[in-house]
Amino acid sequence: MDNLLVTNALIIPMTGTRRSFTGYVRVHEGAIAEVSAGELPAAAHAERVINASGCVLMPGLINAHTHLYQVLLRAVWEDLELMPWLRRIYGSARVLRPEHFYAGSLLGCVEAIRSGVTTVCEHNFLNPSVECAFETLRAIQDSGLRAVFARTIMDTGEIVPECVKEQPDAAFRHIENILAKHDRSADLTFMTGPNTPPINTTPSLLREIRRFADDKSLGISAHVAESKSVVECVRQQHGKNGVVEFLQGFGIPGPNSIFAHSVHISSDEIALLKQTGTSVSHNPVSNMMLGDGVAPVVEMLRQGVNVALGTDGAASNHSQDLFDTMKAASLLQKVHHQDAGVIDPYSVLRMATIGGAKALGLSSVCGTIEVGKRADLILIDIDTIHSQPINDIFSQIVHCAKASDVRTVMVNGKILMRERKLMQQDEKEILTNARKAHRDLTERLASLSF
Ligand SMILES: [Zn+2]
Repeated sequence: MDNLLVTNALIIPMTGTRRSFTGYVRVHEGAIAEVSAGELPAAAHAERVINASGCVLMPGLINAHTHLYQVLLRAVWEDLELMPWLRRIYGSARVLRPEHFYAGSLLGCVEAIRSGVTTVCEHNFLNPSVECAFETLRAIQDSGLRAVFARTIMDTGEIVPECVKEQPDAAFRHIENILAKHDRSADLTFMTGPNTPPINTTPSLLREIRRFADDKSLGISAHVAESKSVVECVRQQHGKNGVVEFLQGFGIPGPNSIFAHSVHISSDEIALLKQTGTSVSHNPVSNMMLGDGVAPVVEMLRQGVNVALGTDGAASNHSQDLFDTMKAASLLQKVHHQDAGVIDPYSVLRMATIGGAKALGLSSVCGTIEVGKRADLILIDIDTIHSQPINDIFSQIVHCAKASDVRTVMVNGKILMRERKLMQQDEKEILTNARKAHRDLTERLASLSF
């Protein structure tokens, strides 16, 4: 589609401070060509016009941290804290097959699209065979989502099965192979990283990862200080006070690094994140589900750390719904600080849009509605019982709107969902395949003991 007009929308551009206006956006060859307030001029012409009356038009949401295949593992291991839960997640690698990754990841992508997500960062960490990463990537590409694929590495750990432990050289060869077989563009970028240092990564791997990432111009994604138990481990094994401090010794923090969770970090470590330009993906629903604790989001924002939002995998969420996550992010800080004004809804919206884009190295590509950026846009119906009447649109997107209010989703101006109907994919077929993969995985899991 060459030319598309979205008219009569309540536009939230997410540029600068709180701003919304009624107007129209013109999309040309996948990019935003015009953003204007008011009525469309009579002479305006487009091959396609979407009348968005009653809808908010905003940048597509950015899920800065997830494991898509885990939709097959919703509500399988519950009521467990991080370490015993991870033992099961890692242990499941013994029976995970490439087809599980494809079917699960595609279902995860569809759930993301249906909740207004246009970019996902897939933190890939279980690769019992090399095809698993390829199948995950194939699912993401089939979905039409913009993606960052973070292929991470584990080389140690009592709870990590041998089939997913890798020697650095072998892992790097696998990543080089992935890079060789995919075009790197703004539609699909790559990262690497240690999975959950230090519980599954040796110091020498950390050193090698920094070198490899620099050599290949890759960002770094890692699970950082998710629970107290991880911090305890870094204290006992490495004599450091915290995980960020430990990682600093290997040059892992940096402007192209995204640290998921960052729940148990000190003020000095927050300062270190700011100093090094490291971003954080805040995953409040997952943190609450696993009883991890509350990330110091307010302190990070006050210190100027860039914070993005993530769902994390559905095995600890149990969805891919960023609307849930936005509301949780807001309410969790309010109750934690026992201060209703401690975080404002616009800051939460920033985390879910431009904060995510910045964290993933995509701030010139998406995350705001601005001329020249790619047309990653969503329409949210606000003419609903639970959203009317409108008093504060920013608060009401965060606290009233639901994923099911998202009507239309486009990436690069290409419409992935129109009036809640998927345009590129057969939803029934995806669901059937995911159920089949789930049945097979469940049977295989029954043969394991943890
Ligand atoms: Zn995660």
